[in-house]
Amino acid sequence: MKQGLWLALGLGAALAVVACGDDTNNNNNSTSSSSSGSGGSGGAGGSGGAGGGSEIEVQTHISPDGFGVDSHLIVGPTEVVLVDGQFFTAEAEKVVELVKGTNKKLKAVFLTHAHPDHYLGMEVIRSAFPDAKFVTTAAVLADYDAKKDGTLAFAQQNFPGQVPDKVVTFTALAETTITVDGHTLDVVEIGDAGESVEAAGLALNEQKAFFAGDLIYNKEHLWLAECNFDGWIKNLDALATKGFTTFYPGHGEKATATVIDEDKKYLNDAKPILEAAATADEAVAQLEAAYPTWGGEGLLSFGITNYFMACKMP
Ligand SMILES: [Zn+2]
Repeated sequence: MKQGLWLALGLGAALAVVACGDDTNNNNNSTSSSSSGSGGSGGAGGSGGAGGGSEIEVQTHISPDGFGVDSHLIVGPTEVVLVDGQFFTAEAEKVVELVKGTNKKLKAVFLTHAHPDHYLGMEVIRSAFPDAKFVTTAAVLADYDAKKDGTLAFAQQNFPGQVPDKVVTFTALAETTITVDGHTLDVVEIGDAGESVEAAGLALNEQKAFFAGDLIYNKEHLWLAECNFDGWIKNLDALATKGFTTFYPGHGEKATATVIDEDKKYLNDAKPILEAAATADEAVAQLEAAYPTWGGEGLLSFGITNYFMACKMP
């Protein structure tokens, strides 16, 4: 499918720029450290649930490769659930170390959507934790299964030795919840095609927290190459009605509810820019000028290039 191919090419090209040392990193996503507890401030203990007292803690690894990809660990007294992997082997290995550092059992790994920056490194995690269940929704699984082989082949060709040589087999969840030591994570299907065609998140309602995948970017340029601005905004509007106060994004640091309006504004700003711009470079320059402090330069330039090919060509 043309669009999927362009997406794979775009991400590959973007990563190539980063790998070649073009410093597209930025202030927001350059951390390679793992944050736990409150907002990456190094705060110990419970992670900001209303009123505190929750025995569930969240730890996050954000890749420093210019994409700021999040892997979130939902840590209970004895069990851990991981939300999303990484693209590169080296980043997935850091996630493995983070899990090992908890001294808890990795019970399950949940994939929010079928974009390779969230799953290509999963084989590293699977081989380190062979007893963990790798799960997602039936809809995301179908999307993943349709794209994974082509994406893997492309990545291996373009990043030899930097990505695993196979991808993980996921299972479709039969239930609508995952538990961590008896604490419930509700699986939330994202309604419309938006950032990706299919997507899902996890709600930790006892902390009013939502693991949003790429429905939420926090001050990172949004990946706009799937042409679904209206669907994405509709999904954000739906999310805003659910009462969450903490958002664990697919890219960037933990956020509060203001992130929903920030991402909506970005989409509403970007759409007319992209429609009016004559070239991708022109659109990129305008978005960089409008959001000078946001990270994800690689996602921006190659996402826009792909937008021009996938969304503007007849
Ligand atoms: Zn992503």
